[in-house]
Amino acid sequence: MEPKKKDIRALTKDELRNFFMDKGDKAFRGNQVYEWLWNKGAHTFADMTNVSKATRKMLGDNFVINHIEVDHMQKSADGTIKNAVRLHDGLVVESVLIPTASRTTACVSSQVGCSLDCKFCATARLKRMRNLNPDEIFDQVVSIDKQSKLYFDRPLSNIVFMGMGEPLMNYNNVLKAIDKITSPEGLGMSPRRITVSTSGVPKMIKKMADDKVKFKLAVSLHSAIDEVRTEIMPFNETFPLNDLREALQYWYAQTKNLITYEYVIWEGINDTKKDVEALIQFCKFAPSKVNLIEYNPIDDDHFKQAGSQAIEMYRSMLEQYHITATVRRSRGKDIDAACGQLANKT
Ligand code: SF4
Repeated sequence: MEPKKKDIRALTKDELRNFFMDKGDKAFRGNQVYEWLWNKGAHTFADMTNVSKATRKMLGDNFVINHIEVDHMQKSADGTIKNAVRLHDGLVVESVLIPTASRTTACVSSQVGCSLDCKFCATARLKRMRNLNPDEIFDQVVSIDKQSKLYFDRPLSNIVFMGMGEPLMNYNNVLKAIDKITSPEGLGMSPRRITVSTSGVPKMIKKMADDKVKFKLAVSLHSAIDEVRTEIMPFNETFPLNDLREALQYWYAQTKNLITYEYVIWEGINDTKKDVEALIQFCKFAPSKVNLIEYNPIDDDHFKQAGSQAIEMYRSMLEQYHITATVRRSRGKDIDAACGQLANKT
């Protein structure tokens, strides 16, 4: 049986340069090929027109170029686009393009399924199959950038890691993908336009701070009371709020970057004054702002979006304490593309 060929995009630039030198060629050939792979979006070795035919054949004998396929695309009435993205091994994840008047945001997945078990999230119902490779994350961004140009006549402006999976549970690959997205040899996007959203893994938040990452951090908080948070996000038992708070204080001390808390208010779960007071206390530990997000039902009677009175109570109490709170309306609800709804239903 022919040995399985390696995906060439798993190689770093130095590894590619070394490969060519080992073959008796010049190292700069590695730079050329690297540029084709990460900047010019080559899908086949035949695309690499400034590389000799013999070299292209040699590359084809040794490697493959795995790439994603957008299997299915759905458009929402509000312009949001949801993609079912097929990976090279047949597994499927979802990515979303969210257009507003001033920006186009890509919401990308970092894992196939998720190992965490947030009770309000549709992805949690899918078993975690595997982590995405850096090129699979990168390709989601490239494909959404193309859609943004095609349908909205402008390039992608922002990226959020809020699709399927917990990005900090696939930390190395997420970082490698962001490196390609931000590098001038890749897409050249500013890291300040990228937000990594986590359910709150304290050890990894500290690691990000130590790694001096330049992107923004968002935390799906949803409650600042341990008993309530554990009920809706059971892993909170392992990573309680005290540990999370300590990690976030460390993050701010190291990076001086403001933290965004993502927060959904559910009827009968976290809609009392006591819940807001706990959130205000939590926000005091490090400079932060709060996004109050509209909930998207996932066929579960337990979770119901709280009424406008509760949202207004949160907003005005936070304001009294000078904590910026923004109410975020949901996008793409009609196609199950909104936050927490991604579940490969297409
Ligand atoms: S909210 Fe995020 S971390 Fe929680 S189960 Fe869903 S995908 Fe995983």
